[in-house]
Amino acid sequence: MRAVCTLLGVAFLLTAAPPHRVTAQDYRAQALRILKTTPLIDGHNDIPDAIRARGGLDSVDFARLQPHLMSDIPKLRAGGVGAQFWAAYVPVTTIDSGPHPAVYALEQIDLIKRLCAKYPRDLAMAYRAADVERNFKAGKISCLIGIEGGHAIENSVGALRMFAALGVRYITLTHWRSLSWATASTDTAQRGLSALGRDVVREMNRVGIVVDLSHVNDATMSDALHATRAPVMFSHSSARALTGHARDVPDSILKLVPGNGGIVMVNFNPGFVSEAVRLYEDSMESRARALRAAGAAATSVAESTKAWVARAPKATLGQVADHIEHIRAVAGVDHVGLGSDFDGITEVPVGLEDVSKFPDLIAELLRRGWSEQDVSKVAGLNALRVLRVTEQVAPGK
Ligand SMILES: [Zn+2]
Repeated sequence: MRAVCTLLGVAFLLTAAPPHRVTAQDYRAQALRILKTTPLIDGHNDIPDAIRARGGLDSVDFARLQPHLMSDIPKLRAGGVGAQFWAAYVPVTTIDSGPHPAVYALEQIDLIKRLCAKYPRDLAMAYRAADVERNFKAGKISCLIGIEGGHAIENSVGALRMFAALGVRYITLTHWRSLSWATASTDTAQRGLSALGRDVVREMNRVGIVVDLSHVNDATMSDALHATRAPVMFSHSSARALTGHARDVPDSILKLVPGNGGIVMVNFNPGFVSEAVRLYEDSMESRARALRAAGAAATSVAESTKAWVARAPKATLGQVADHIEHIRAVAGVDHVGLGSDFDGITEVPVGLEDVSKFPDLIAELLRRGWSEQDVSKVAGLNALRVLRVTEQVAPGK
């Protein structure tokens, strides 16, 4: 009798047990497992200029947690990062005064190489796709160099070739200001690439530097896509169909990317991924302009701005995933990647606060039903392909 009762009890427990639900932790564990075999490659991180602003390499212990930075080695490790394009960012103000843009770029490249050399247990330079794979197998995070701002070449294809020789793997054609040969997304001018701009693109193809179309206007995106013989990259841009920011990529351009073989690496900047945040930021700018026009002191404008920022709506990790899914829908899963812009952005989406949070984004895609193969493409395989094809196309390397 007792045995029967026990059997009945077991049967009851078996039938009453809820079906196994895959929990958030399960998806996160799966994401971390994937990132152990696939290098996660982020398209854009501004730590070089953040370190420069803090007084240089000796002022920041990158091997320890840096609470005021979005990136450091412990957070990169927690985030399963396999390779990082560090931005050799050159302010457009250098066009007018201060160090020459080319010198500023050289100093940023120098800082990236010294950063990488200072922490050899964790970091290693990478100049080719094979370097990324080799470093990954050795348990090291690859450091790749991308120059942000074509003004760095100072209209010289000779300087461009020397940047290639130093190991630069992409150049963002413009930053916020247009050049004579390429037009910025923030400019009202409609022109695209000039004849020199097309020469620059072809020379980049020849020496194996990826043409980065983040920051340029739609005409320049289109002209570059037609001029290039190698895949392009949008190192840190999201989808304009979801957030109407000029820095994002319109569907008309997304449709051209598969034919080119390139990649759009989604930016996490709240104003680029949330339409509510974008509209709020626009309204903040016009309110600040109105205050200045009414003669308000700079300090009171700054104080009002601080209060507005505190009340701003928040972007979310889910919205970043929405951008990834939109680009997948329009351009295909082979043409989407990650380009966080960490340490270059001041606000972050909820859930994507720093480089340690990449696995949460991968987990969100898995939760939405993505296959392991497809999340691996977004995490790093697509970016690796762009690097590899660029190397194959380049006869000058
Ligand atoms: Zn940027």
